[in-house]
Amino acid sequence: MGESETDCIFCKIVAGEIPSEFLYEDDDCVVFNDANPKTKTHLLILPKKHIPTIADLEEGDEKIMGHLIMVAKNLAAEMNLAGYQLQINVGRDGGQEVFHVHIHLMSKF
Ligand code: 5GP
Ligand code: ZN
Repeated sequence: MGESETDCIFCKIVAGEIPSEFLYEDDDCVVFNDANPKTKTHLLILPKKHIPTIADLEEGDEKIMGHLIMVAKNLAAEMNLAGYQLQINVGRDGGQEVFHVHIHLMSKF
């Protein structure tokens, strides 16, 4: 299941092959605006490492997944969001369209 790293649109964004504005970046993750926002604030938080889906997580990946949630929390606080949703779609039948793990941070604020 999923695209290989070479075809992956999010890997291309991470590598700078598709120019994008990062709202946040560190050694392990990047954050950018969703191209088709469903709410006023709609960010995507993803690991630089290509992991197709949550179903593909391996031993050791809990560190990066925990880090993504901490980044979400910190950004939401910086943006003074009163409340928000964190959503992860898993697999085609779970509504996933891009097969590189990402957390949606969505807020009406
Ligand atoms: P999924 O359904 O896989 O959880 O969510 C994929 C999300 O990525 C969608 O909300 C879609 O709008 C967004 N998206 C797809 N391609 C691109 C892109 O090239 N750039 C950005 N910024 N967002 C994208
Ligand atoms: Zn990827």
